[in-house]
Amino acid sequence: MSIGIKAPCKYSQGKGELGKLGLNVKKMGNKFFLLCTANTRKRVGEIMEESLKSVEKEYIFCDFNGECSKAEISRVMEEFEKAGCDVMVGAGGGKVIDTAKAAAENLGGKPVVIIPTVASNDAPCSGVAVIYNEEGVVVKALLTKKNPDLVLVDTDIIAHAPARLLVAGMGDALATWFETRACKRSGAKNMARGLCSNTAYMMSKLCYDLLIQDGVAALEAVKRQEADEHLENVVEASIYLSGVGFESGGLAAAHAVNDGFAYVPAAHGMYHGEKVAYGLLVQLLLEKAPQSEWDEVFGFCKAVGLPTKLADLGVTEVKEEEIRKVAEAACVPTQSTKNVRADITPEEVYEAIMKVDEIGRKG
Ligand SMILES: [Zn+2]
Repeated sequence: MSIGIKAPCKYSQGKGELGKLGLNVKKMGNKFFLLCTANTRKRVGEIMEESLKSVEKEYIFCDFNGECSKAEISRVMEEFEKAGCDVMVGAGGGKVIDTAKAAAENLGGKPVVIIPTVASNDAPCSGVAVIYNEEGVVVKALLTKKNPDLVLVDTDIIAHAPARLLVAGMGDALATWFETRACKRSGAKNMARGLCSNTAYMMSKLCYDLLIQDGVAALEAVKRQEADEHLENVVEASIYLSGVGFESGGLAAAHAVNDGFAYVPAAHGMYHGEKVAYGLLVQLLLEKAPQSEWDEVFGFCKAVGLPTKLADLGVTEVKEEEIRKVAEAACVPTQSTKNVRADITPEEVYEAIMKVDEIGRKG
């Protein structure tokens, strides 16, 4: 069995990086399709325009409608073709980014530039687009043939995004190492259809180490709206290392439990990374992780404000049948809980979810 690694062609990150967009994309094409929300356009539209103008490129803006759905992907494809564009640019959060990736893929593999304006998840670097229906339920994960051509991260912009989004991104990234490790141990296949490599294993560990080392200070930096070296490290961990780590390492119980929380209406307002962090605590119990490991992860969650009890996920009234549904959904054959251990039962997952809550409520 072979190993497999997927990654974006180029990743660049730094203060004021968006101003270098033109230089980075000069050879990619001539007319750029800029997909973003009206709010993102207000925040960063002018910088993108100036930068593209400086290298004599044409562009058009297209407003994103809010959901990465089949209908929205088709609409974006039509607009792209109508305008005669040759490069797709997605700027904003996870759903805009995934829509841009999916539309470019369905257009026959157009060049893709991803500009995350928040560090709330690990979507930017991956070749995966999660598609939802109009009700916001996951329909499928589209695996694109190639990862983005360029991921460009301006840490000045990330520093001005809401702190809770950075925390959610740290929650998503916190799980990467433990999920990769579970996949390596169990020999699970990753999204590059190969085994976890030493490279992905090492990147996932570095992702975790950077979060533990710089996470708290990075949160302080965002509260001051300042891109310091702590924030640079955490953004690299949350966007690059976690993105390559999950795709080339693999997913396990943390993400499966996150997906299961779709069955709990009270948790619908929570960010992906917040639910993943809770799922990670569940995974550590399922793995019977050493106390020191638990203490470090649990302590980090408390320190940055990631959920450690069900009430933190908006679930103030715990209904047994709902939590059992989460556990069952996390254990269906297509889910990644099996990458921890093939024989994990919904009962074990249910008990672990409740045990995390019990420990979390004690503080
Ligand atoms: Zn994730």
